[in-house]
Amino acid sequence: MGKRVFNFSAGPAVLPEEVLKQAQEEMLDYRGAGMSVMEMSHRSKTFDNIIKEAEADLRKLLDIPENYHVLFLQGGATLQFSMVPLNIMQNKADYIVTGAWSKKAVKEAKRVGEVNIAASTEDENFTRLPRQDELNLSPDASYVHFTSNNTIFGTEYKTEPEVGDVPLVCDASSDILHKKIDVAKYALIYAGAQKNMGPSGVALVIIRDDMVQRSSDDLHTYLNYQIHVSKNSLYNTPNTYGIYIIGLVYKWLLDMGGLDAIYKRNVEKANYLYDYIDQSNGYYKGTVTVKEDRSLMNVTFRMQSEELEKKFIAEATERGLVGLKGHRSVGGLRASIYNAFPPEGVEALVDFMKEFKEKN
Ligand SMILES: *Cc1c(COP(=O)(O)O)cnc(C)c1O
Repeated sequence: MGKRVFNFSAGPAVLPEEVLKQAQEEMLDYRGAGMSVMEMSHRSKTFDNIIKEAEADLRKLLDIPENYHVLFLQGGATLQFSMVPLNIMQNKADYIVTGAWSKKAVKEAKRVGEVNIAASTEDENFTRLPRQDELNLSPDASYVHFTSNNTIFGTEYKTEPEVGDVPLVCDASSDILHKKIDVAKYALIYAGAQKNMGPSGVALVIIRDDMVQRSSDDLHTYLNYQIHVSKNSLYNTPNTYGIYIIGLVYKWLLDMGGLDAIYKRNVEKANYLYDYIDQSNGYYKGTVTVKEDRSLMNVTFRMQSEELEKKFIAEATERGLVGLKGHRSVGGLRASIYNAFPPEGVEALVDFMKEFKEKN
């Protein structure tokens, strides 16, 4: 058997080893079904149990109130950039722009209606989040959209922006389930699964009942939240195997002690890395200018030159520290340390960083 590396990839990303092993054990014969989950009907009793249990475990993890629906859709977070405005924009919407993903969300929303950019930190290259007093919100907006964690730029909201009575919509693709949040503060949360929750090909949507009522019958069927809610995510064939793996990840999170326990571990992992970066006398430099805005999931940093960064990445890769290259649009280095990323991997990275600094 090959050796597993420490996988710092931003997404698709590392999965818990326990989950992969269980999937392996259940591959040929899923619990007496005589076939794998990939091969069975999405209308079967067995799959019905898988999707229902996944939803129940998610509800347990996040304490989701009863007036919220849970959907497992396709098209990634990217299709949600369109589905959100198509379904719930009535006149105009406010968007807080904190990175490349929020910009893409704005692009699609503009096709549907009027978009007010409530704030943007683009002129500072997204190195911080807008403060509450910088938000220019419209009281009559259909919703306010924000991105809780900026996967590329390494910033993350520690508390939700305050938006009064206007429905709050969140793209939580890269930090969903990294800690307990108060779902009741949100009207809609969506997330592609492949960062913090499972394999690619599944988009999770948590949507409040009054938002579902906004969908128009004129919408194309797949794009209509109401249809998916009424069919429990089984209007068409969903990504059955992806949903099964996500369900195993939810069980793993529950076994780890739930979201408070995983959050504690996430804070420890991130602090260990940021503390070393800050103690390196500028040899490694965090890219985020406001420390409170630093992401617990994607730690972005730079070195003195691109040459040095290249060397760092090449030698780290040789050591089994894989996926540390920053996003192609910003360069530098990025260590993605999602829920499933083990603390030993962060220690190994810091050891390597110390050694590299000595030698170079
Ligand atoms: C990765 C990512 C997306 C895009 O997700 P897809 O599932 O590839 O469509 C959107 N938003 C954020 C914050 C992301 O990190």
